[in-house]
Amino acid sequence: MVAKQLEGKFLSASIMQQVKKDISCFPSPPRLVSLLIGSDSGALSYAKIQESACKAVGILFELVKFPASTSQEEAIDYIVKLNNDPNVTGIMVFVPVPDHIDKNSLIASISHLKDVEGISPTNMGKLFYDNSSIVPCTPKAVMLLIKSIDYDLAGKEVVVISRSPIIGQPLLLMLLESTNKSPTPTCCHIATQNLALHTKRADVVIVAAGKANLIHGEMLKEGAVVIDVGINLVEKEQNGKKSRLIVGDVHYDSAMNVASWLTPVPGGVGLVTTAVLLQNVSLLAKQHFARLES
Ligand code: NAD
Repeated sequence: MVAKQLEGKFLSASIMQQVKKDISCFPSPPRLVSLLIGSDSGALSYAKIQESACKAVGILFELVKFPASTSQEEAIDYIVKLNNDPNVTGIMVFVPVPDHIDKNSLIASISHLKDVEGISPTNMGKLFYDNSSIVPCTPKAVMLLIKSIDYDLAGKEVVVISRSPIIGQPLLLMLLESTNKSPTPTCCHIATQNLALHTKRADVVIVAAGKANLIHGEMLKEGAVVIDVGINLVEKEQNGKKSRLIVGDVHYDSAMNVASWLTPVPGGVGLVTTAVLLQNVSLLAKQHFARLES
């Protein structure tokens, strides 16, 4: 079997088109403020992607940079200011943050009405009850990608390799959201013994470990749907020349011979995640304007 590529570009384009249409009906354009504390190169690259994606749909974007020496109190004070600023629609904080800052306290200080990533305690709590609020972007992107191929998850064995609070845990809740159409999810993580034992029997494997080539073709069941969330920067040497490239957590070539669908990295989940972020900005703006009217 040769897998079909489950690319993110079509889904991402259609989400962005809808967001652009919705935003054009708002009384004023929404504004996203992203905070970067320090100078992480991955975060800076993602900020550039956010900026151009926002521009494409009519969202105002601002990247606020703080030096790595910024104290937790200073960062939280700034977030509180943004919470109270009626011209700010959505707020997010890039990770990693410097070691002296408690990431969870920063996230908890973002008002759930402006929490564009859906990871504040209130929005995470709402996820336990239903999926109707602002939800974390990457898990939602994964769910939308699976839906885009009309794959019926009901009763299927789904292995999620991640227990992280931004990916694995919310994704497990989303998978269990439907009363009688849910799959049977298994959560694997760093302490899982014999990962292949789980992946080999899975109809769907979703991996977000941040480990290049963690999943090889021989660890997969024939015909599995494989969603690769991982983003890893690796060095490659060819003809004595070193170069850096982005790869996922799945060994692409071997998995292509076994899976039925496989998301590429780059060009898969990441593209859809950015589009979902914009969708969340649009939803927050819609809720804001509705509150003003009531
Ligand atoms: P994290 O470090 O918080 O979580 C990694 C998870 O993988 C943990 O639960 C850990 O237990 C598990 N894990 C690590 N090594 C493992 C192993 N050998 N076997 C089994 N489980 C293992 O990271 P995160 O912030 O959740 O991000 C994970 C990956 O997803 C990173 O590569 C990140 O860059 C990527 N990411 C991608 C997107 C996207 O849109 N594509 C968005 C966010 C993060």
